[in-house]
Amino acid sequence: MAEIDVIVIGAGAAGLMAARELVKKGKSVCVLEARDRVGGRIYTIYDNPMSGHIEAGAEFIHGDLQTTLSLLREAEIPFHSLAGKTWQQKNGVLKRETHFIEHWDLLVQRLKELKEDMSIADFLERWFGEDKYSSLREGVRRYAEGYDTADTARASAIALRNEWLHEDEEETYRIDNGYGELIEYLLNECDKGDFELELNSAVTEIHWQEGRVAVFTENEESYLAKQAVITVPLGVLQAEAIKFTPAIPEHTMAVQDMGYGGIIKLLYLFKEAFWESIKNEQGSLKDMSFVISEQEVPTWWTQYPKKSTLLTGWIGGPKAAALKNASEESITELGFMSLANIFKMSVEDLKAQLVSCYIANWSSERFSKGSYSYVTTETAQARQLLTAAIHNTIYFAGEAMYEGKEMGTVEAALKSGIEVVNKIL
Ligand SMILES: Cc1cc2nc3c(=O)[nH]c(=O)nc-3n(C[C@H](O)[C@H](O)[C@H](O)COP(=O)(O)OP(=O)(O)OC[C@H]3O[C@@H](n4cnc5c(N)ncnc54)[C@H](O)[C@@H]3O)c2cc1C
Repeated sequence: MAEIDVIVIGAGAAGLMAARELVKKGKSVCVLEARDRVGGRIYTIYDNPMSGHIEAGAEFIHGDLQTTLSLLREAEIPFHSLAGKTWQQKNGVLKRETHFIEHWDLLVQRLKELKEDMSIADFLERWFGEDKYSSLREGVRRYAEGYDTADTARASAIALRNEWLHEDEEETYRIDNGYGELIEYLLNECDKGDFELELNSAVTEIHWQEGRVAVFTENEESYLAKQAVITVPLGVLQAEAIKFTPAIPEHTMAVQDMGYGGIIKLLYLFKEAFWESIKNEQGSLKDMSFVISEQEVPTWWTQYPKKSTLLTGWIGGPKAAALKNASEESITELGFMSLANIFKMSVEDLKAQLVSCYIANWSSERFSKGSYSYVTTETAQARQLLTAAIHNTIYFAGEAMYEGKEMGTVEAALKSGIEVVNKIL
């Protein structure tokens, strides 16, 4: 095979964005993707027994995110704002609430006073160790694990502060026909240039010297290029699934300093949107968007405002990682028990309502090994090293390599794809 300019490893949002920017600038690009599909942690399943599409991976656009939204506008892909009400189940009772964490104002004040970074677990112990704050500690833990899929013993208190204090200011969106449309668009854009995509090509080794790389795949193919952009998930890097010759020990160690969580998404399609007919003194669940509970599968959401009978459950952080090897049946059962406790229904009644169910256990997937990155107290230093090119030849990109409050998201992946190309050019 003729030598190409750049090999991009991974055809997720970062890899395809980088490839599109490179071919636009006249570079020849070969993307090597381990799976038999593109998209990575964006996985919209169109061909399924459920009605319409389902998002097994990324689903929301968390805010007015410039790169994602402008790409959607450019591609003329329709998206809509989320609507509906969030409910909370506390002490077995369903309530409407805005702040889920007790003593929220005091928590914010203490976080704002924080000068030196520490893990959020240490922060809680230092300022909120007393018994009277047990509910606050539990609330913070649930939030950090659920939303950021983080381990509180490693997650940076300052990073969480920055994230939490800027919440609720912006809209959240969903793409009408799923994130898959964005991936499809990027792929079509790549095809306009000197571009090749090889699926089922798990990279196992990279031999490199300045200005030259030889990339080897599991199916015993090899590819030559001047430069390589590695966009595989942080979890894959942490597992040292790709061997470098000569070795890059500092980089190999740096990836361990960054945080990478676990996630399981549970998608249950029911015959009817049964929750819509549930009412209590606080109102009706007809326009419910999210429910946050104390159950094993704590968070659930509907497709509101879209009419749908789909409920999506979410287990994040160490709990999800601990279920890495659990069977689909046992996870499905956990989901049923959680729903039964939240909506005060019997598991049998729920099962009778079920049309189909899909469990996406990303922690057990060989090519993701988890959810997305979170900031530890050591992330900044590690990322600085990883995002500096190695002899203008090896580059790391992907959501984890992006510095900014969107780290962990599709936006971060897209921006990182652009940033790495700017470095190459
Ligand atoms: C369940 C879930 C829900 C999420 N929800 C949201 C959300 O609502 N909103 C949001 O913005 N973000 C969300 N995210 C995060 C978002 O999906 C990711 O941040 C983003 O898609 C990452 O893109 P990426 O290109 O960096 O990595 P990836 O999409 O993981 O792409 C990396 C690619 O590398 C490939 N690969 C791995 N190993 C190899 C190898 N050895 N050789 C070749 N290829 C390899 C993988 O198959 C993959 O295609 C969610 C993630 C998950 C898992």
